[in-house]
Amino acid sequence: MPNNKHPETKSPGAGAASTLVMSEPAHGQYMRPSNLHELLTFLDRGSASVLAGGTDLVVMRAEGMVDRAYDIVDIKDVSELRGISLSADGTITIGAATCLRELAKTTVIAPNAITDGAALVGGWQTRARGTIGGNICRASPAGDTLAGVLATNAQLELVSRTSTRVVPGQEFFTGPGRTIREPNELLTRIIVPVSPGGSAYQRFTYRNAMDLAVVGVAAYVEIEDGRCVAARVALSASAATPVLAPDAGNALVGTELDEASIAAAAQLVLNTATPIDDGRGTRAHRRTVLPAIARRAIGIALERALGGHQR
Ligand SMILES: Cc1cc2nc3c(=O)[nH]c(=O)nc-3n(C[C@H](O)[C@H](O)[C@H](O)COP(=O)(O)OP(=O)(O)OC[C@H]3O[C@@H](n4cnc5c(N)ncnc54)[C@H](O)[C@@H]3O)c2cc1C
Repeated sequence: MPNNKHPETKSPGAGAASTLVMSEPAHGQYMRPSNLHELLTFLDRGSASVLAGGTDLVVMRAEGMVDRAYDIVDIKDVSELRGISLSADGTITIGAATCLRELAKTTVIAPNAITDGAALVGGWQTRARGTIGGNICRASPAGDTLAGVLATNAQLELVSRTSTRVVPGQEFFTGPGRTIREPNELLTRIIVPVSPGGSAYQRFTYRNAMDLAVVGVAAYVEIEDGRCVAARVALSASAATPVLAPDAGNALVGTELDEASIAAAAQLVLNTATPIDDGRGTRAHRRTVLPAIARRAIGIALERALGGHQR
């Protein structure tokens, strides 16, 4: 929301020759609670921005996308929001304040579409600072972990002072930069269900240096007796939100995931993709490269499924 609350003002009693002064924009308070209860109490006021790594928030505040009069609640000291764990039943839980570098390098869980996305965000400095929760809550259509959240069927835990709800990833994103999260809610955990398949995320950028995705594709495949029994394909930078491409996923099911069936399914991502023309690419070019990126993502997911990775 642009900050229009602090326009230029003149000094009191100023005449025609007086100096024009600019009022300092009001800045909210900075708070760094050490426990979740205190954090949620601050958020309950409804006028505070959550600060995780700050790699997006600081820019958003500077550009007036976030009201600078809002308080800032820094979540880095709340230890239960960090870390990656694998439960006995195979469920993966990722704390929302886990930094992307830790996620990209983890050995706690096998490489998957979400860890692939984490490894591609910015440079190592950005990944050391930025968090998975920040990437998800920023809800950029080009966010690199978002398609993985959808392809792995992950759920997001949203907690306020008085309630907890767990929502499927695909219900979370409502538009560019918009989600169903209420201002008093904190994303606390990303919960990836038990699954015997493999997943992967691939993206296209014009250069290998730091860049945002022109398009990205995450895929999940599960195999039994040589045939695909479940599959999901999700796209980033291809619509107003990250989206599942159901035609592509459904086309994989029942096949042996040979080259021809993967290529045919990959082509079907175009039934879902509605990319735009912007500074990073044209709609036409995005639609041209999407099937190739989808083929690559499905191929790596298949290798991982066959390689015995848990997911
Ligand atoms: C140089 C540079 C390169 C980048 N490259 C990429 C890239 O290649 N791919 C990519 O996807 N992104 C990229 N980004 C964007 C950014 O680094 C990521 O989106 C990062 O994951 C944001 O995490 P953060 O912890 O810094 O979030 P913050 O900046 O702290 O927060 C981002 C938003 O999420 C909210 N938020 C954060 N955590 C929570 C929570 N737990 N609950 C509720 N709300 C929360 C904040 O209030 C804010 O609105 C880049 C940024 C920079 C500066």
